[in-house]
Amino acid sequence: MKRIILKHGEEGRIRTGHPWVYDNELAKILDGFAGGKNSGPGDSPSVDLLPGEVADVESSRKEYLGRALVNPNSKIIARIYSPSKEGLDKGFFKRRIREAVNRRTLAGSNFDLHRESARLVFAEADFLPGLIIDRFVGWPLKELESVVSLRPLTFDLAEAALGPPRSWIAVQFLVYGMDSRREEILAALEEVLEQDGFIIPGGIPLGKPAGIVEKSAAKVRELEGLPLQEGLVRGDFPAGGMVIFENGLPFMLNLIDGQKTGHFLDQRDNRLRAAAFAAAGNGSASGNSGGVRVLDAFSYTGGFGIHAARAGAASVTCVDASAPALETVRINAALNGVGDRITPVEADVFEYLRTAERQKEQFDLIILDPPAFAKTRSALEGALRGYKEINLRAINMLKPGGVLVSCSCSHALDEIRFRYMITEAAADAGKRLIMLDFRRQPMDHPALVGYEESLYLKCGIYRVVG
Ligand code: SAH
Repeated sequence: MKRIILKHGEEGRIRTGHPWVYDNELAKILDGFAGGKNSGPGDSPSVDLLPGEVADVESSRKEYLGRALVNPNSKIIARIYSPSKEGLDKGFFKRRIREAVNRRTLAGSNFDLHRESARLVFAEADFLPGLIIDRFVGWPLKELESVVSLRPLTFDLAEAALGPPRSWIAVQFLVYGMDSRREEILAALEEVLEQDGFIIPGGIPLGKPAGIVEKSAAKVRELEGLPLQEGLVRGDFPAGGMVIFENGLPFMLNLIDGQKTGHFLDQRDNRLRAAAFAAAGNGSASGNSGGVRVLDAFSYTGGFGIHAARAGAASVTCVDASAPALETVRINAALNGVGDRITPVEADVFEYLRTAERQKEQFDLIILDPPAFAKTRSALEGALRGYKEINLRAINMLKPGGVLVSCSCSHALDEIRFRYMITEAAADAGKRLIMLDFRRQPMDHPALVGYEESLYLKCGIYRVVG
């Protein structure tokens, strides 16, 4: 086993739980058995690391820090996956996946994975660096359409018509060492899902997925020297997409077709919370016979907007630059029986907000859920200008008493700076805001203590006082 020896003083961050070793923290790489404090035979010639191999990480004083997946072609040269000397065989992957699934079914986590879609594995935060597994539970859209015409569609209607739901998996191999072990990982995943009873009372296995789709399209793959890669790896995926139920509401997703759209599971709870402000009685709309007007900016497939419409909003404008996403908004609106209250608009949100503000448009509830403008720390300054611009314009367009739901999924933007950005936007708008809530990510997207990158989602909810 090769040994990565860190430079003097570089072990502190790793000791407090951070799993990454950057290339500039590395002092040397040794081959062979541990030589101990006083160099032994294992300390002889320095060697090179191979992409995807496993190595032990040690401090400059040769204290053991953990076992890691390495990639010498990446700035993140090693990702620790275990504090001990665990090997990376199928048994390891089964253990890790089983532990991750169990954490999601423990009391207090509140996932009923027999009915609910969830992220089963969230990479480093589940001690499986660069591996993401989402599981979607539901029925093929076409099958549903042919047997149930009632809208809004409910889980119970679907189950009565088509029997128990089926599941499909979306998997992302984001680092070299996971990509090269894809077959062991897929086999381990299938065995865990088919065989294990987990901690769920009654212990019913989740069952074999009907299909597994690879969605390794994140840009980090390129930093690892891997091509972007998507497509079916097991079973099949229903032509025309599938329907899941989130907070009881139907949403369509399609992981493979030309018009493909997925579904962001991490905003599940925030969508429900935001929708509460779309009900009649929102401060800004009182005495407003037109009902609550909602803007869902960066709507994607309408997650927030559909929740708002179902909660009672009179009108919801969903703005996104992606035509397939807006096509899915239409399908989702129809499935939810709110097609008459949702208007999809294909536009650049920056331009849309500029124009709408000029035209003195007003809303009672505005949701901003942009993509990560800052993917790295160095991109933060420019990104902050973008975040501030959209928030300032949204604040300007909210009626007194109206509510802003402002999100950022950029891990490079921490909560303090996010809140300061909102503070500045409010000051520039000359408005006072009250923070009603400040939310993060749900428990199936765990935040690992000591690894701040995993605490990425921010969702601030503010009322404009005037
Ligand atoms: N709110 C969504 C998720 C948003 S993801 C939900 O609840 O599911 C970010 C979305 O922003 C993507 O759909 C992308 O197409 C869109 N997008 C990115 N940049 C944009 C821009 N400048 N104008 C409009 N849409 C944009």
